[in-house]
Amino acid sequence: MTSIAARFSINTDDPFNALRAGILGTVVTPDHPDYEEARQVVSIAVDRHPAAIVRCAGTEDVAFTVRFARERGIEIAPRSGAHSGLGHSSIDDAIVIDMGGMRGINIDPVSRTAVVQPGVTSEDLAGPAAAYGLALTTGDTGSVGIGGLTVGGGIGWMARKYGLTIDNLLAATVVTAEGEILRTSVEEHPDLFWAIRGGGGNFGIITDFTFQLAPNGMVHGGVIVLPATPEVLRGYLDYAPEAVDDLTTISFLMAAPPAPFIPEDRIGEIVLLVGVTWTGALDDVAARDAALAPIRALATPIADTVEAIPYPVMFVYTAEGTKRHGAAIRTMFGDDLEDAQIEAVIEAMKAASSPFNMIQIRGMGGAIARVPADATAFAHRDARIMLTVLGIWYDPEDDGATHRAWASSLWEQLAPASRGAYVNFLQDDAEERLPEAYRGVLERLRSVKAQYDPENVFHYNANVRPK
Ligand SMILES: Cc1cc2nc3c(=O)[nH]c(=O)nc-3n(C[C@H](O)[C@H](O)[C@H](O)COP(=O)(O)OP(=O)(O)OC[C@H]3O[C@@H](n4cnc5c(N)ncnc54)[C@H](O)[C@@H]3O)c2cc1C
Repeated sequence: MTSIAARFSINTDDPFNALRAGILGTVVTPDHPDYEEARQVVSIAVDRHPAAIVRCAGTEDVAFTVRFARERGIEIAPRSGAHSGLGHSSIDDAIVIDMGGMRGINIDPVSRTAVVQPGVTSEDLAGPAAAYGLALTTGDTGSVGIGGLTVGGGIGWMARKYGLTIDNLLAATVVTAEGEILRTSVEEHPDLFWAIRGGGGNFGIITDFTFQLAPNGMVHGGVIVLPATPEVLRGYLDYAPEAVDDLTTISFLMAAPPAPFIPEDRIGEIVLLVGVTWTGALDDVAARDAALAPIRALATPIADTVEAIPYPVMFVYTAEGTKRHGAAIRTMFGDDLEDAQIEAVIEAMKAASSPFNMIQIRGMGGAIARVPADATAFAHRDARIMLTVLGIWYDPEDDGATHRAWASSLWEQLAPASRGAYVNFLQDDAEERLPEAYRGVLERLRSVKAQYDPENVFHYNANVRPK
């Protein structure tokens, strides 16, 4: 007589059956029709074959999967929005704990808080929050996952007014390396709560975040596009970190894109595209213009689109970043650039390895700098600027070598100005620059790591080894 297992083509020897039976979500192994799609991540440079991608439905699924993997000695790679610059969103032979489908958002307009699952993206949250007149400062690009973004800090469009994403985090649920579920806040497991705010994915898997929202469903936002001269760059570097808190800018030294606001004869010219968010009173256009005047005075703008917009519209300006791409990244926190370094970044852009390369400069300061240095594990509150070199390509046939060489060569000239590195923008330099990324907090992070993950189960990150 044929067994039931044989009649229904059930492989009773499949070690993942116990996982399938234990969770609500889906276990995607190589024989599953979704496997090819599920192993894809945002980076086209990552082409890995995990043992399984576990599409978790909730916290219990994550905890069960951690225990399952650990009992069998299988590596674990947590994934939320799949944008890892380190290439860790997919790992050969590991179990990818995929929280990309955990996209619940629960907004309480009275307390102005939101409970958000890790697969929620910046733009997922921005829309519903704006409907209540609220917003969370996250990152500059809509598709990035709250999970990975938050654990590194989260530096976004309203950072100078409301600080980093972690500065608005009230509590989180964490699945530990033992598969336990812990609630963390300044009152509960405060050491763990300190570490997950800037220490990366080293300490556990966060399955929900409770955030304080800001009353900024609407902002004045847009771009001011300026010619990329040394004087413009110098003026921007001097002003951006010193502006009033209501003005956050993220600037892109780049080839002017074929956007409707760029005059046709300027497309392709190297420009400084200053992305602007003004969070002051919506009807106080005079205050907004006073804050923007020093930027507008740097040169005759090629374009100026700043106007009152729903906050989610800011993500339209960075929509290119949501497409699958390869990126060669070098990043720094610092105070300023020497004149020769300003010349170097402009010259490097003129000789870019790809038309999509860019150098991103952010004015820090404001609310970021006012949070006490020891309140969170983010170590760069005193930086005036953040600069990131990005060699970008979209062709899957491109192996990225020329773009990596371009980024490394420019970096040699910029490195002397660096006194810190953003953990969310580290790449093949992660190991070497770990002390810079966790400047002054590494030993404390290592103690927390020893307490919550002594066997370094969570090591697909800018890895903090246990003390
Ligand atoms: C186009 C683009 C634009 C960006 N812009 C910004 C920006 O403006 N500001 C900014 O701050 N950052 C920015 N980043 C960096 C971004 O924050 C990091 O790449 C981040 O790690 C991505 O998170 P993710 O969830 O999408 O990626 P994933 O690949 O899913 O996660 C990355 C890593 O984060 C950890 N992790 C993920 N989820 C969890 C979780 N739930 N619990 C614990 N650890 C977890 C893991 O170590 C994982 O390997 C940008 C990245 C890209 C690609």
